[in-house]
Amino acid sequence: MKQSKWGMVVDLDKCNGCQACVVACQSENNIPLQKKSDYDENRVIQWIRVERYWEGSFPDVKAKFIPIMCQHCDEAPCEPVCPVYASYHNNEGLNVQVYNRCIGTRFCANNCPYQVRFFNFWEAEWPGIMEKCTFCVQKIRRTKRDAKVNGFEIEDGAREINPACVNSCNTEALIFGDMNNPESKISRIKAKEEKKDGRGYHLMEHYGTSPNVLYLKKVDNSKKSHSH
Ligand code: SF4
Repeated sequence: MKQSKWGMVVDLDKCNGCQACVVACQSENNIPLQKKSDYDENRVIQWIRVERYWEGSFPDVKAKFIPIMCQHCDEAPCEPVCPVYASYHNNEGLNVQVYNRCIGTRFCANNCPYQVRFFNFWEAEWPGIMEKCTFCVQKIRRTKRDAKVNGFEIEDGAREINPACVNSCNTEALIFGDMNNPESKISRIKAKEEKKDGRGYHLMEHYGTSPNVLYLKKVDNSKKSHSH
């Protein structure tokens, strides 16, 4: 079987800010729910968050949303600063975190420009560990194992392997897949949208992080008609 390289596309033209992805991620990964007092102590944990921006002024105000999760960077700034290699890259392009190696220095969180790493101060088995999005690696592992044992091919976009956020998004703003498979939906989107006139871009790519999440710009038709 060819080595997979996992990636995600986030189509900002489809995201309506409903936050279903945030709740799905919380449920799948047992992320602690926060009370107001936790917020006040800056202990919020959200492996995926939906940032909201307002454009224009009343009454012509528009809301824009951008879901942000770990970008699974090829040149991940969190990895070289971990003194115990708890943050590392696996052979499928995922930036993963070994919980029982983490000694809690939090260098990784400080070095991540996307602010997607969270230190869990709650009742963890270890006295606090760094946590983050893994593209639901537990689903990837389980599906691959099932496919091997039962002898079936994993279909592109199968719900069994998709991260919880992707399955929960009813506008299909989030697309997950194997970028090493040229026939996958994500590869086809990348081929089209990473061209010069495409909508694709990477968050803060000037840092040289080489993220594996591709964002597609929102299509703003009003700007087109105004320019006539
Ligand atoms: S579930 Fe989809 S539409 Fe809703 S906030 Fe998340 S990405 Fe946007």
